[in-house]
Amino acid sequence: MGICDSCGDCIPTCPQQALSLQNGVISWNSAHCEQCDTCIQQCPRQSSPMTLTYTVDELMAITRKYAAFINGVTVSGGESTLQLPFLIDYFKAIKEAPDLKHLTCLIDSNGTLSLNGWQKIAPYMDGAMIDLKSWSEESHLYLTGRGNQRIKESIKWLANHNLLTELRLLYIPEKTDYLENIELLSQFINSLGESILIRINAFHQHGVYGEASNWRSAQKQHIDLFSKELIKRNIVNIKTPEIYS
Ligand code: SF4
Ligand code: SF4
Repeated sequence: MGICDSCGDCIPTCPQQALSLQNGVISWNSAHCEQCDTCIQQCPRQSSPMTLTYTVDELMAITRKYAAFINGVTVSGGESTLQLPFLIDYFKAIKEAPDLKHLTCLIDSNGTLSLNGWQKIAPYMDGAMIDLKSWSEESHLYLTGRGNQRIKESIKWLANHNLLTELRLLYIPEKTDYLENIELLSQFINSLGESILIRINAFHQHGVYGEASNWRSAQKQHIDLFSKELIKRNIVNIKTPEIYS
């Protein structure tokens, strides 16, 4: 997903008139929104205008409202690490608050943050869940528009610092290249340490736009075959989907 530049192109596409420009910045009226996703489908930057802006203090107030009912917070996106200074301030505020000591601070990320960036936020985070959407550079480039060298470096760095909570692999039939590279992938995973949780996600066609809407959804047999190949290579801490489309 790209970053919204407030071009305003999505405003006329909204059937609920929930979008407008306020001082040159896109504004979303959540009370009018019917969650139809038309604006996302029409956005030339594959972004979303459905965002709200908070200061760290405002987000801390919201966090405190729910703190008694949760064990931690997970920031996701889009790509949450694109707002690294904000994340650092938010996590730091949680870690310094005596009444929020029970909350873990986790990041759900595509792994493209630099090692310098991970080093900056590491003192305030408890872990990260990282996506590796394909093994080879070329295949990853095809699927996501970017290579995966930096992502692999992030995964290794986080694992070495006991901050890799989960490695996520997205299985897309005929697209992802995990099985063709199963030996290299398994060696990589085994090098990360025994306790790393591998979560295999099944690609769902539903709700996907653009070229990917023509890709096949992954079924249980695809995931079972893939996890069997990992188990054969001593990777046993695996979570597979509960439901398939
Ligand atoms: S969401 Fe997309 S179309 Fe709408 S203002 Fe942002 S960049 Fe433009
Ligand atoms: S999802 Fe987007 S297009 Fe649909 S109602 Fe909400 S703001 Fe409007």
